Amino acid sequence: MEDKDMEKNDVSQSRDKEKDGDSYEKVCYMCRRPESKAGPMISMPGGMNLCHDCMQKAFDSVMKNGMDLSQIPNMPYMNLNFNDLSQTPRQTEIPKKQKLRKQKEPQPQLTMKDIPAPHVIKEKLDEYVIGQERAKKVMSVAVYNHYKRAFLEKDDADGIVIEKSNILMIGPTGSGKTYLVKTLAKLLDVPLAIADATSLTEAGYIGDDIESVVSKLLAAAGNDVERAQKGIIFIDEIDKIAKKKQTNTRDVSGESVQQELLKLLEGSTVEVPVGSNQKNAMTPMATVNTDNILFICGGAFPDLEGIIRERLMKKSAMGFGAVLRDSFDNDPDLLSHVTNEDLRTFGMIPEFLGRLPMTVTLKGLDRDLMVRILREPKNAIIRQYEKLLALDEVKLVFEDDALDWIAEEAIKRGTGARALRAILEEFMLDIMYEIPKDPNIGSVVVTRPYLEKNGGPLVRMRG
Ligand code: ADP
Repeated sequence: MEDKDMEKNDVSQSRDKEKDGDSYEKVCYMCRRPESKAGPMISMPGGMNLCHDCMQKAFDSVMKNGMDLSQIPNMPYMNLNFNDLSQTPRQTEIPKKQKLRKQKEPQPQLTMKDIPAPHVIKEKLDEYVIGQERAKKVMSVAVYNHYKRAFLEKDDADGIVIEKSNILMIGPTGSGKTYLVKTLAKLLDVPLAIADATSLTEAGYIGDDIESVVSKLLAAAGNDVERAQKGIIFIDEIDKIAKKKQTNTRDVSGESVQQELLKLLEGSTVEVPVGSNQKNAMTPMATVNTDNILFICGGAFPDLEGIIRERLMKKSAMGFGAVLRDSFDNDPDLLSHVTNEDLRTFGMIPEFLGRLPMTVTLKGLDRDLMVRILREPKNAIIRQYEKLLALDEVKLVFEDDALDWIAEEAIKRGTGARALRAILEEFMLDIMYEIPKDPNIGSVVVTRPYLEKNGGPLVRMRG
């Protein structure tokens, strides 16, 4: 009865308003229902009206989120007393267990048990990296020793301190330096950051700060500082930061970068931005200790062979080995004779070289190695194409002399094994386009004449 009376009252009230010249009905700001449907409105400042239902919903949601309404004083412009509301039984309906957002499982920390013995590391590397036997062996031992040192109890009382042994990798472009490091990091399951020395400049100049390399590693470790501190940083093109000869201006991207890298290489604590390689007031910072981070610096060091040859020649001219001089000109493995003296002549500063005690040299790839790279690695390019066509039930065959041709062509391009994929892609495009057109094709043979553009590939039908 009371409700009906109220409704009557409301309706008559709004009619009165119409008579007064206020021809508009109040409309709820939230649900847009007029007063005649939603009942009397609660008026708020600024001409805003809310119906009782929407007001209730708003309170419910505020209370569910754990707000203590008893702490809020009465609001004079609302016809409601919050303190009363907070006493209502609704408060008891607040679900006790709130849904928590799923957190990412942290990756387990590396332990010494996870680091395989050098011979196992080498065997694994053999599956992917062809040739470069000595480099693989040296790297396997260096990495194993590095992690032994990293996991050593710091309070060993015998006083013997194992020094950090970062690695310097020297080898022509496309000989597998980056590939070797990438493969190593993957099989050890440690985070890896690859940086380019040419983009680094002395702090305060345009370019990346030295610490940006640590930022990258932290990102690769999913912002897990512990994991990052056992990671690997590969700085490529290290030869490009050699000391410039005869320069009058400040060498901000050469010698200064070598100087600034010193503290990182030997182990220090750096503050790096998380999730960005730019420091600014908004990015949170993390403290990373580089003591157990393995630094590998790689470069092609062009002209280094000339420096080595000159030194060897001088030596042999003074001694009895004059006959040997000619042999230096044709030695394909001249780089392996490199010494710190040669690298200093090249423009690396002695302090920098002192912090890279291991030197690994890689050989330029000859034709036979190129052919093996095409065929043998676990994810060899040829195997990838074979697999793609096998999905169409087509057998792909490469004749031996076709592979020789690809290897010879790659050597001509002078970019090492990197050229192999580019060359192969040029020729495989037509095959990959045409073959799926005809379901009767059973096999395709890539021949040397096809690569020399003297004919098409040999196509055989099924059956
Ligand atoms: P760089 O020495 O210039 O760092 P990369 O390691 O980047 O050369 O080599 C380029 C590509 O060539 C690699 O991605 C890899 O596929 C291939 N490659 C180079 N050397 C080898 C090798 N010894 N064994 C297998 N693949 C290799």
